[in-house]
Amino acid sequence: NRRIVLASRPHGAPVPANFRLEELAIPAIGSGEVLLRALYLSLDPYMRGRMSDAPSYAPPVEVGAVMVGGTVSRVEASQHGDYAVGDLVVNFGGWQNYSTSDGTGLQKLGALASPSHALGVLGMPGFTAYMGLLEIGQPKAGETVVVAAATGAVGAIVGQIAKIKGCRVVGIAGGAEKCAYAVNELGFDACIDHRASDFAEQLAAACAKGIDVYYENVGGAVFDAVLPLLNTAARVPLCGLISQYNATSLPAGPDRLSMLMGTLLKKRIRMQGFIIWDDFGHRYGEFFVAMSQWIKEGKIKYREDIVQGLENAPQAFIGLLEGKNTGKLVVKVAE
Ligand code: NDP
Repeated sequence: NRRIVLASRPHGAPVPANFRLEELAIPAIGSGEVLLRALYLSLDPYMRGRMSDAPSYAPPVEVGAVMVGGTVSRVEASQHGDYAVGDLVVNFGGWQNYSTSDGTGLQKLGALASPSHALGVLGMPGFTAYMGLLEIGQPKAGETVVVAAATGAVGAIVGQIAKIKGCRVVGIAGGAEKCAYAVNELGFDACIDHRASDFAEQLAAACAKGIDVYYENVGGAVFDAVLPLLNTAARVPLCGLISQYNATSLPAGPDRLSMLMGTLLKKRIRMQGFIIWDDFGHRYGEFFVAMSQWIKEGKIKYREDIVQGLENAPQAFIGLLEGKNTGKLVVKVAE
């Protein structure tokens, strides 16, 4: 059995030395428990928050403890009446080959095209896209929806749902290749490279009628370009701020907070943060039915970025915070 623990807390961007690979015995199970072998491990931006001991909506990983994470696992041994050897489940097994459970938080996998989809399009990121866009964003046909990290696990689904709802969709992504993918494969109306020197001008040109819904995944310079384009009564689901997760201090001045608040006031903009399971967990079933149907009808396309081997998880996670992934980042831990 192998696991990856948090060796030290990062200062700024995580580095390989913040992680440590450990070998240990396969855990034994007791009455009422199952032994789970991870097949797929999901790597997600929120893990950067867990590496830090700054206050957040969830407690940090302790130094020396196994890194947390969602997994698809196979039951290898069972002393639990509801689970048989060979069953596939979604669990929060963390960055390790084997974990045990008393059944709390286990979810049996239905019939999926690939088990890993339970960590992406039909799991947490897809659910986040669905609730944030539809509940908070309230998109209406004909409106302009902008989403950043547009080819990632959440953003790609946000844009495609907005297309289903009849909106004009403008993505923001890092680099020409990701932008071409958003337009040609995902069906977005346009996609702008946030690394381009004239990014703000290009975004304004692509949003000639302003922005009605901005689905925020990124913050920082991307939001600076979006803010002046927001229309009166725009909605801003505040999902993530990945450009800030490695920040060690506030950005340099001048302080633009009063400008932000003034814009929200004058344009009656509604900006709302959310934490998917806390706020919407009770609606997962509804999402699963809707998304399964869209996939069946070919209305939602889905791409995964699969990394082989648990030992490569730290480097892949570091890359996620630098935009190295295209699509949902997943580690294949075992066959
Ligand atoms: P992605 O698969 O989109 O991967 C992260 C992407 O973020 C990178 O590929 C990169 O895309 C982009 N990025 C990274 N750094 C920067 C930067 N400095 N400036 C601009 N873009 C950057 O991740 P997810 O889809 O899993 O997550 C997207 C967002 O959703 C995150 O902020 C995450 O924290 C949030 N989230 C929030 C949840 C909630 O409950 N509120 C639940 C799940 C996710 P590119 O190369 O295109 O720039």
